[in-house]
Order: sequence, then structure tokens, then C-alpha cells
Amino acid sequence: MSDLIEKLRSELGDAGVLTGADAEEKAQGGWSHLGTPLAVVRPASTEETSKALKLCHAAGQGIVAWGGKTGLVEGGNAEGMIALSMERMHAVEEIDTVSGTMTVQAGAVLEAACDAVEAKGFFFPLDLGARGSATIGGNISTNAGGNRVLRYGMMREMVLGLEVVLADGTVLSSMNHMLKNNAGYDLKQMFIGTEGTLGIVTRAVVRLRPAPSSQDVAFVGVSEFDAMPRLLRHMDVALGGTLSAFEVMWEDFYNLVTREPALGKPPLASTHPYYVLVESLGGHQEEDSARFEAALMAAMEEGIVTDAVIAKNQSERDAMWALRDDVGQVAQNWPIFTYDVSLGISHMEKYVATVKERLAAEWDSPTTMIFGHLGDGNLHVIVGVGDGEPEARRRVEEIVYSPLRDIGGSVSAEHGIGLEKRPYLGWSRTPEEVALMHTLKATLDPKGILNPGKVLEPGLKVAAE
Ligand SMILES: Cc1cc2nc3c(=O)[nH]c(=O)nc-3n(C[C@H](O)[C@H](O)[C@H](O)COP(=O)(O)OP(=O)(O)OC[C@H]3O[C@@H](n4cnc5c(N)ncnc54)[C@H](O)[C@@H]3O)c2cc1C
Repeated sequence: MSDLIEKLRSELGDAGVLTGADAEEKAQGGWSHLGTPLAVVRPASTEETSKALKLCHAAGQGIVAWGGKTGLVEGGNAEGMIALSMERMHAVEEIDTVSGTMTVQAGAVLEAACDAVEAKGFFFPLDLGARGSATIGGNISTNAGGNRVLRYGMMREMVLGLEVVLADGTVLSSMNHMLKNNAGYDLKQMFIGTEGTLGIVTRAVVRLRPAPSSQDVAFVGVSEFDAMPRLLRHMDVALGGTLSAFEVMWEDFYNLVTREPALGKPPLASTHPYYVLVESLGGHQEEDSARFEAALMAAMEEGIVTDAVIAKNQSERDAMWALRDDVGQVAQNWPIFTYDVSLGISHMEKYVATVKERLAAEWDSPTTMIFGHLGDGNLHVIVGVGDGEPEARRRVEEIVYSPLRDIGGSVSAEHGIGLEKRPYLGWSRTPEEVALMHTLKATLDPKGILNPGKVLEPGLKVAAE
């Protein structure tokens, strides 16, 4: 091992390889367990990334990519392996205002990249609570979703081109800038959402959008579940394509993020079973605001909405979004288990009732908080039971995931599989799908050095039943 580390050091220099206490320090502060890596390698270029992979490949050494370490499913656990941090590759290389594209290195922090784009009068629509730490490479590798998928799609829809270093150090450059390119297989898709198990993303070309010049945000209270999908359809039609977010909250989540010690104040009385944050992004503030208000008024007249408040200025808009993003407050109920599932809207009400019933049948006073992106079929389920012991976690996982099997749902809407959800992959994918995933892995990474053990169970061809 010390031999490999010396070779890495001679190729990448002292700043490029951290060991001992320096490496341990880098493993702190992740949102899920990162383990203790043997060393942290910090390439400053694609060429250095390739050199590091070549050496690890020759030594059969496992290597785990780290971006902003905000992943929530233990995808970055590098226990006993080498961590490959992209933190020195953080440049926004080019913003092409003619073709509307950004060429960016994998370690660029999402928020910094968005700010650079905004300064040029464009918009990069990926938005998530971890925007201040998560990186473009991490977003690509997890196919991140977030708040505006309804309008702009997930990260996959935003990536035009990709540069990836393969397990053996080969640099695969597919830095396409065009919206259309059907010349053979679209190879970049193999690396989007595959959590660093098939290649290391080093650079990307992403699609930009015109910067919106209007934003309207409202908080809405509704009295029954069915009103939420009706409101979604109503707003989508009435806003003529400017609907950009439709974030739903069950009352327990709303109460938590609007009651002390939460910083947020309740925009509406806490008397509704469901709340929705609705956002529209458009091109003309006055006209868009009038349309937004009229659409909400019509929803009230039709009885879809019980109560609504529209933010009057930017600070009120930000305050409404801050409620949705208040993870600090969610952590008040620690220990908690967090889940990110997707399912058809028509199944949601029954699914939530089933999960709550099953939890209540096993624990005295379980807490359940539910919120999510209704239009994407994505619910975040946060459960607090007992002392958070591992046996309880396994039982809760079964309660949360098992009802999804019969309704074609997914155990992972947007966070990925990592280590945490690996036992349940076969609950959302067919044996044939999982077998093909193994075939791809064996072809691209025959020595199994890239993020070993994540997503797929090593050696298994079919996921556990
Ligand atoms: C408060 C909070 C809110 C969040 N909200 C959302 C949300 O709304 N939607 C959503 O989708 N996610 C959300 N997440 C999860 C997380 O932010 C995303 O998964 C994000 O895309 C991870 O980016 P990262 O740079 O932190 O990646 P990391 O956590 O560093 O890594 C995640 C995975 O990607 C791999 N990886 C990282 N960089 C590379 C690379 N360059 N090449 C190959 N593999 C790589 C890692 O090995 C790991 O498997 C949230 C997380 C937090 C903490």
C-alpha cells in the first residue's frame, strides 16, 4: 500500500495526496458515513485523475469519488479505500452565451456554478437544499433532482456532454455541445446516475436556460389529498408552461418547520392537513403575477384550495422556500430515518396511510414527516422511532419500501442506491435489469475498483428478494 501511495505522490505531488490525520480530517462533515480512507487523492486535472486511476487499476485498489459529500445513501463510504476528491477541479471553464452552454469541471460547487451562469444572464435550473456544497460531478453521478424537475427535468436532462475517466485510466471525452446528437450510442448516459461505479466524471457540458425575470411564490392550504393533484393540473394549465415547482407538505412537516425553535413563521394557519408551495418562473413580472394570482383565485373559487397567501416581495419568497429547506429543524426529531421514494400520485394517499398504520402497530409514538415533489411522484418520508437502533432501521425500511413493490414504485426517487439501499434494489428493478447492470459493471470495471460494493452487491447477478 505504501508503495502505491508513494507512486501516487510522485505523479500528483504532495498537495495531491493526503494521508493520516489530513486524510481523516477530509472524511469529516459528510452527510452520510464516509469511513476512514487509506488516503485522499486530489487531482488538479483530468490527466492527473487518469494517472491516479491507472496506478490504482494496476494495484487492484478500490477508489471512491468524493464531490461535496452531501450524498445521503453512503455512496461515498471509502472505508479502507482511496478517496478521490474532486475539490481541486472546480473551475467554470466556459459559459457560451451563443449556444447557451456551460463547460464546467466536476468539482465545481453547484451554487457557485449557478452564480457564474447568472452573472452572464443565464439560468442553470438544478436546485436542491445542498446547493452550497454539492458539486456538479456529484449531481451528475447521482442524477440529482431537486425542486424544479417538474419544469426542467433531472440532471440527466441538463447534461449535453461529459468527460469521464474509466477504471483503467482511459479518458473518454464526449464533450458534446449540441442538443441533438444521435451518432451511435449516447455513452454519457452510462455515467449519469451510476454513482461513480462505472467511471469518474471530470468535466461536463451542461445546457443553460434563459434567466427568468419573474418569480411568483404562494403557500396554499388544502383540505384533502385529492385537491393537490387537481391543483397541480389546474396551475399547470392556467400558467401556460411557467409552473416551476409544486412542493407538497403534510401537516406534520409544516407544523415542525413553522413552530419554535424553527426560524420560519407560519405563512398560513396550522389548520390544514396538506400545504403546497407553488412557484412560477416567467419573463414579465407584472403580467406573470397577475396570471398567477388569477389562477390561484380560480382554484379557490372552484373549492380546490382552502386558503392561500402569495409572497409580496423577494424576502417573503425566500422565507417560503426556507421553510421547505429547513433540514436543521427536521433534525430536531433525531434519531430519524430518512427515505426518498417515488410512486404514482394515485397511490400516494393510501401508501402514506399504510406506512403510518404499520409504524403505529409496532411502536408507541412514531413520528412521521412527509413532504416532497408531488409532480415528480417523489415523496420524502422521515420516520422517528425508538432510539434509532439498527434493528429498528431495518424494520422501518421494510415498512417504507415493501408497499412500493406492488405498485411499481421506486426505493430511490433521487438520492441513489449507494450502500444504504443496496439490499432493496431488486424491489424496484427486475432480475433482468439488475443482471444487465452487473454486465455493464463487469465490462467497464472488470477489476471492480470503482466505488466497490456500491449500488450492486459484489458477485451477485440477481438482487436479493
Ligand atoms: C440538505 C440536503 C438536501 C438535498 N436535497 C436533494 C434534492 O432535493 N435532490 C437530490 O437529488 N438530492 C438531494 N440531496 C442529496 C445530494 O445533495 C445529491 O445527491 C448531490 O447530487 C450529491 O452531490 P455531491 O457533490 O455532494 O456528491 P457526493 O456526496 O460527494 O457523492 C455522491 C455519489 O456520487 C459519487 N461521485 C461524486 N462525484 C463524482 C464524480 N466526479 N465522478 C463519479 N462519481 C462521483 C460518489 O462516489 C457518491 O457515490 C440533498 C442532500 C442534502 C444534504
